[in-house]
Amino acid sequence: MKKVVIIGSGFAGLSAAAFMAKAGYDVVVLEKKLQPGGRAAQLKANGFTFDMGPSWYWMPDVFERFFNSFGKKISDYYSLERLDPSYRIYWEDAPMDIPADYDELKKLFESIETGSSKALDQFMAEAEYKYRIGINKLVHKPSRSITEFIDWDIIKGIVKLDVFTSMKKHIATYFKNEKIRQLLEFPVLFLGALPKDTPALYSLMNYADIKLGTWYPQGGMYTVVKSMYELAKELGVQFCFEHNVTEVKIDNGKATGVVANHKNANKIFDADVVIGGADYHFIETKLLPAKYRTYSEAYWDKRIMAPSCLIYYVGLNKRIKNIRHHSLFFDVSFDIHGKEIYTDPKWPTKPLFYVSATSVSDKTVAPEGCENLFFLIPIAAGLTGDTEALRDSYFNTILKRFEEKVGEPVENFIVYKQSYSVKNFVDDYNAYKGNAYGLANTLLQTAILKPGLSSKKVSNLFYTGQLTVPGPGVPPSLISGEVVAKEAIKYLSK
Ligand SMILES: Cc1cc2nc3c(=O)[nH]c(=O)nc-3n(C[C@H](O)[C@H](O)[C@H](O)COP(=O)(O)OP(=O)(O)OC[C@H]3O[C@@H](n4cnc5c(N)ncnc54)[C@H](O)[C@@H]3O)c2cc1C
Repeated sequence: MKKVVIIGSGFAGLSAAAFMAKAGYDVVVLEKKLQPGGRAAQLKANGFTFDMGPSWYWMPDVFERFFNSFGKKISDYYSLERLDPSYRIYWEDAPMDIPADYDELKKLFESIETGSSKALDQFMAEAEYKYRIGINKLVHKPSRSITEFIDWDIIKGIVKLDVFTSMKKHIATYFKNEKIRQLLEFPVLFLGALPKDTPALYSLMNYADIKLGTWYPQGGMYTVVKSMYELAKELGVQFCFEHNVTEVKIDNGKATGVVANHKNANKIFDADVVIGGADYHFIETKLLPAKYRTYSEAYWDKRIMAPSCLIYYVGLNKRIKNIRHHSLFFDVSFDIHGKEIYTDPKWPTKPLFYVSATSVSDKTVAPEGCENLFFLIPIAAGLTGDTEALRDSYFNTILKRFEEKVGEPVENFIVYKQSYSVKNFVDDYNAYKGNAYGLANTLLQTAILKPGLSSKKVSNLFYTGQLTVPGPGVPPSLISGEVVAKEAIKYLSK
């Protein structure tokens, strides 16, 4: 049986492993950490269970499609709840709940800007069209050549798909009110670039937000990891944890195996195909000899990375009276914070932040009567000076704002606190510049303009995950694993 070695068990590695095993190959996943899931790790401490990375479950259709590909359903593994309200935004003045129901949302829009509910219908009709083409056609392209995009639906829709306008301009043509504009620009932040640098094609994310909704898998996002891990094992995938890959062995332009260090001993895993699910830059520059690298260090340096993050996992020994599952703190200027992430990278002066309180929807993630909080500040990738003192100072700043907005004291009720930032992303995931979400989805970093999913120098080396196609986020990572598996299967069937 032909052997496939996959480096890393993040969502992309897990997805690729499942598809390769289904196709009948002997699949081994080598993972440096103790648990699967990569950036979607789970932290258990003092009776609290934290999702360390992703917290927004969007595009439920992508997850359902993944499990359906193996004759399974999501409900075979976990239960999903649609959140209502989807989330809350704390503006400088009053907070605003974003209702799950579309008609309720239209009423909310109309109360802010006359005529905006009608504009929303038109905006959403376009967004839906983009979502359908995007999710059914574009994201499944391996993007090895422009010719893949010679497709009647894509050509027909090229103008409608708004590839060359920015999200910022697109939204501004429909809506005048600043709050509405910011609300519709928010989903783009998942894609790692500013709305002014993100193609309006990505208003498909507004369709995902508003029409498809925000969901929560009971037990947390890690339940999805566990389910994919179980599925992969059912399909026969072998997992080796605490196996830190240190080299891809290459002979005459072909990968012959992978060297992994396990408890201070090196082991060699022979391979007919290697799929790199770890950080692309790390695999290229640290695991391959220079002559087999497709991209130079200068190429990487010019890439626009999605942000890194400063995160706090916090346990309280009380419940907060008036809090939602997801809260966005847009009470300060995003323009300044945005510049400090992209244009003039520095630690933010007045950051926007996000809080997830999973205990609002899930009894299992905190002891009774306690609250599970996750605070996230997006920051520029590659920042230096990530010290404990700096982390403490940011925490104090955002905690004060949080207390003011929720209207009750919090500091004295903290019974657990752990921070996570640039240094941890580098140490744990070999993340280039400590990125959290991979590569930004700008126009010049889309499809064939992204680092390719197959090596140009090593015939049987492939890449998957958030630094290659289709892009950052959990649903794209699932798709990336499927797309790379198809390419690897094509290669192995030659
Ligand atoms: C804080 C945060 C919040 C996020 N929020 C959301 C959200 O709400 N919704 C959403 O959809 N997306 C979100 N994302 C993005 C999403 O989590 C990622 O895009 C996705 O998980 C990336 O998966 P991946 O498989 O590409 O990479 P990873 O998860 O990084 O997996 C790579 C794996 O490779 C392993 N590895 C690295 N080096 C080696 C080595 N030498 N040997 C062996 N193994 C190795 C790593 O340990 C890791 O397990 C968030 C990300 C972060 C960090």
